[in-house]
Amino acid sequence: MMSAEVFALPETADGGLAGAVQALCKSLMEAKAVDLMMVPRRLPLGQMVQHVLVKDAHGLAGLDPVAPVMLVNGATLLAKLSRQDPGASLGALLRPCEIRAFVELVKLHQGDRQRVLILGSDCLGTMEPTQYEPWAKNTAESSSAFLESMLGKGELPEGAPSLRSCCQACEYPTAQGADIELLLVGAQASGWLAMASTERGKQALEAAGLKKAVFPSGREAALRQMVSRREAFRDSLLREVHSEVLPLEKLLGELSRCINCYNCRDVCPVCYCKSCVMDSSTMEHPSYQYIRWAKRKGALKMPAETLFYHMTRMAHMSTSCVGCGQCSSACPMGIRVAEIFRAVAFRTQAVFDYVAGRSLEEPLPLATFREEELQPR
Ligand code: SF4
Ligand code: SF4
Ligand code: SF4
Repeated sequence: MMSAEVFALPETADGGLAGAVQALCKSLMEAKAVDLMMVPRRLPLGQMVQHVLVKDAHGLAGLDPVAPVMLVNGATLLAKLSRQDPGASLGALLRPCEIRAFVELVKLHQGDRQRVLILGSDCLGTMEPTQYEPWAKNTAESSSAFLESMLGKGELPEGAPSLRSCCQACEYPTAQGADIELLLVGAQASGWLAMASTERGKQALEAAGLKKAVFPSGREAALRQMVSRREAFRDSLLREVHSEVLPLEKLLGELSRCINCYNCRDVCPVCYCKSCVMDSSTMEHPSYQYIRWAKRKGALKMPAETLFYHMTRMAHMSTSCVGCGQCSSACPMGIRVAEIFRAVAFRTQAVFDYVAGRSLEEPLPLATFREEELQPR
């Protein structure tokens, strides 16, 4: 494994991060390290930042690497772009949970890691999109204000909506698994820096003409502090979910509000089945079946199969859930889907000593077995 090398991002007139990352992407494209890039970019109308696939430097205007909002987990998009030969070399700038979800998708043969140069950035967290938009609209230079406050005081700027609970509980804030990591936490005193974590990343940064720099001395301590704050939040969140939501009676109560819209499935980056059992003819019951169930139980919640749906998804997902929180954000009923999945996944993954998306080298737990598991007991 190569030792990571650090490079200084191009300097810009205003010294801002967005301009420096934009200049980096432009250099990568001009040096032909990549042909096209998928980057988080402010849309021309409104305040939203979305993934945009750009073919040249013009498309990079409005690139915003830290806007605290994630409408779609980019792993889903990158899987679409890399599943078959795209006929061009691709780069993508992603958050850590997007990279981890993409790693899971690659293991599930839904995307191709070799076809993408991945740039990842430290993630300071995201807000609910519905809360982000009005805040960003009413806050001058909202992303810079967010970045400055989070890196400086470790807190949100005054008046900002809180971060989503999955982000507050996210213990993986760095872009592990990327070819190039943008270093923000504990690094700002040294100027904006990128670290090459793979040989391919190093070659790309050299081709882009970046100069070598020194690993920032304050980074490790700052990261430790950030991760321990998040782990403390995670532990308290998981305790609360285990006692207040997961006991069967309480879980049934929480899920009783579910309207079976399947938003939580549709936005989940690693819920990848092309044909879901919930959409199949297996779930199309003859009318008399509902009558029988209602007679047997005395009352039947309609739409039915809510618990079956969530249990099926949980069985498929709990070893691969990366805790990105998208399912909770997409639920129109305010059901804490991600918190429930995170709590179960945390335990399931611990049993297999597996962390979803941590490494491409770690086999999927349910795709492997040890010979002794097959011995009669
Ligand atoms: S879960 Fe939140 S904090 Fe963690 S990487 Fe994703 S968006 Fe960032
Ligand atoms: S189950 Fe929810 S939290 Fe887990 S990966 Fe899917 S969308 Fe993200
Ligand atoms: S998004 Fe919410 S309401 Fe829709 S299926 Fe999922 S839990 Fe149920």
